[in-house]
Amino acid sequence: MSDAYTLLRGGRVCDPTGIADGGGLRDLYLKDGRIASPPPADARIGEVIELEGRIVMAGAIDIHSHIGGGKVNLARLLLPEEHREHASGPDELRRSGSGLFTPSSFVTGYRYAEMGYTAAFEPAMLPSNARHTHLELADIPIIDKGCYAVLGNDDFLLERLAAGATQSEVNDYVAWILHATQAVGVKVVNPGGISAFKFNQRRLELDEAHPHYGITPRRILTTLATALSDLGVPHPLHVHCNNLGIPGNEAVTRDTIAALDGLPAHLTHLQFHSYGTEGDRRFSSAAAEIAEAVNRSPNISVDVGQIIFGQTITASADIMSQFRNSGLASPRKWVCTDIECDGGCGLVPFRYRDKAFVNALQWAIGLELFLLIEDPWRVYLTTDHPNGGPFTSYPHLIRLLMDRSFRNEQLARINPDVAAHSRLGSIEREYTLDEIAIMTRAGPARVLGLRDRGHLHPGAVADVVVYDDLPDREAMFAAPAWVFKNGRPVARNGRLTATGWGDTIVVRPDFDPAIERRLKPWFEDHQTVRLGNFRIADGEILDHGRGGLSIVPTLTASDPCF
Ligand SMILES: [Zn+2]
Ligand SMILES: [Zn+2]
Repeated sequence: MSDAYTLLRGGRVCDPTGIADGGGLRDLYLKDGRIASPPPADARIGEVIELEGRIVMAGAIDIHSHIGGGKVNLARLLLPEEHREHASGPDELRRSGSGLFTPSSFVTGYRYAEMGYTAAFEPAMLPSNARHTHLELADIPIIDKGCYAVLGNDDFLLERLAAGATQSEVNDYVAWILHATQAVGVKVVNPGGISAFKFNQRRLELDEAHPHYGITPRRILTTLATALSDLGVPHPLHVHCNNLGIPGNEAVTRDTIAALDGLPAHLTHLQFHSYGTEGDRRFSSAAAEIAEAVNRSPNISVDVGQIIFGQTITASADIMSQFRNSGLASPRKWVCTDIECDGGCGLVPFRYRDKAFVNALQWAIGLELFLLIEDPWRVYLTTDHPNGGPFTSYPHLIRLLMDRSFRNEQLARINPDVAAHSRLGSIEREYTLDEIAIMTRAGPARVLGLRDRGHLHPGAVADVVVYDDLPDREAMFAAPAWVFKNGRPVARNGRLTATGWGDTIVVRPDFDPAIERRLKPWFEDHQTVRLGNFRIADGEILDHGRGGLSIVPTLTASDPCF
């Protein structure tokens, strides 16, 4: 703590939350890790940094990126060659690290910070893997992080639903899991499908009864979405729809939006769920239909899961789809595992090829979704790292969205049938800087309930990024002139200059602890740990001295949801 202000003078502040849209010149004062109101004339100004008209945004937030936990570690083990190929040399600031699409924990923090990202959210934390996930996130420097607990294929919930559990019992269970696993949201992955796979089923439709429990994905989906809404958890249910990657899955995606019937929900990696069956190859883009359904549904936000050409690895709790894709593994090795009574985990290495029709069309479908969904507050930039490609490709992706001629040049290079089967070439929209600031900062902050992040109002966490206004937006977003985390400079011209530790962001809705009377015998009969050992104490996150806990306030009836 110091009593002096840091002054960022003369930047063009791009913050569409109302403080300075349109990029007007504005001075920013930082103090004690927060954005400060302009101080009185006699205040002590410590450092003054002249921004000379450069563009200033809040730190960027990645709402969905697989950065820690069991599957990330298995992915690293599966591909040791990727760590030889993408080694980063140690220097005096860094612990060494390596990897591109399965980066080490250190490299994850460094690369995000160098690009101006100051928070990232691990979307697929199995509750039984929560302790491992937090230990790994504790090893990611600089950025803030949080996790979504995966529910909806856990035997406790399925068994209780089959036995006729009330909504309020489910609410208590969901809240208990959020507390016990130190999560900030809940993700449902292929509702019921992962469990059905364990009963030898290969596909599960929205209204198809689970082979053992007899309940439908629709019931699981709406019960969980209702629970989060009832509990006032700001981030609504994070939904990975059924039938990921299957041609024709656009129908279940649209049915899922309809089933939610106005309940808030976030549909993740939407690109993998927007496929039709038209044409000779029975694989087509349904991006226009899906975008239209999203445009009509103000309760729905999405992230895209854009694919990027090249080698990566797909990592998912959706073992039903990962087992189906295992024949496509490149290189030819893969992992599928069952995890306790929680769900599963599948790793399939994959190379997206720009000359392959299916991959090239997937690329176009992702871009169509970005460009056809009208409201940038409800569509966020992701590659579903590493599933569609590494998060380090975000600057390239931003250029594709902001620069139509660049986009069309890239379209002309890929499998030529795609231009004929996609409307991408005819879409004129180019994202503005304000829209990029919304989709990478203000939008994700709002949908996660992060009231003091994603904007630059006084009181916000001083996560600030300064860019040179370069016509090549890829170069601009790859190497910001300055990145400040909690008011401290951490990167300059795309190179790390300092390191440190961010916060773990959690949510803690109220609930009736009587739910433990049901959970305790369940743990004793079915799980490898007892209930008391399963719960992660605050001290386990705080004791290592690597950043604090930040608790997102729950919503009350008077709060504006979105
Ligand atoms: Zn997913
Ligand atoms: Zn994902």
